[in-house]
Amino acid sequence: MSARKRLVVGNWKMHETSAQAVDLARAVLAALPPLDARSRTDVVLAPPFTALPAVGVLTAQSGVALGAQNMHWGESGAYTGEISAPMLLELGVRYVILGHSERRRYFHETDEEVNRKVRAALSHGLTPIIAVGETAEERDAGATDARVVAQTSAALDGVAPAEFARLALAYEPVWAIGTGRNCDPTEADRVMACIRATLPGLERTQLLYGGSVTPANFASYLAGENCDGGLIGGASLDAKAFAQLAALALDAA
Ligand code: PEP
Repeated sequence: MSARKRLVVGNWKMHETSAQAVDLARAVLAALPPLDARSRTDVVLAPPFTALPAVGVLTAQSGVALGAQNMHWGESGAYTGEISAPMLLELGVRYVILGHSERRRYFHETDEEVNRKVRAALSHGLTPIIAVGETAEERDAGATDARVVAQTSAALDGVAPAEFARLALAYEPVWAIGTGRNCDPTEADRVMACIRATLPGLERTQLLYGGSVTPANFASYLAGENCDGGLIGGASLDAKAFAQLAALALDAA
């Protein structure tokens, strides 16, 4: 059995108004297997910012943790439209997804910005879930390993290895996100081994696979030596499917 706990994260992206998020969170909590401090699997719901307060009320005392989908690296200041770590902490947020490929692609987030956010999250006691992954063009060019290693080392620049157990990394091939084209599990585990080998100390880091995960394919990722769970997009919007994914992780833990 791995010393690392399993981790299953639902990234709701820009879906669900606050009222809809409450309904979804209620359905997820009702469908989930029982979770307590002894469970070897952590489950995180990451709704949009506007739904964090209402979903946080439901997840408090539930065994499910609250996550945000992004944050700014500053404490406060003239950054219109941004949200800081202290603002998230006040709402009971414990995890924050950083460097998602949609943020890198549509909002032009750089490796350097991801790194600033990672260091800010850690300094505030938030657990960053850092997404890395290659595009289809990079895969076709044989650049997958170089890409994920470069993103991982850039994201962790200046982070002490002692902190590596306080963060998670998600391998998310960009071409597999939301496409129904999930990465072959053996290949995903090979790339995750490569990510893990990027820096000494990453053997203590929870490593997730993300990209068209469903209840039908998740077990084959969890069977990989390097995979500790999943970062789930589409399937996290279906309460029953997400609960099944959490149950699979619990079974594998
Ligand atoms: C994601 O957005 O992180 C993701 C993995 O999405 P999906 O599960 O829909 O592919």
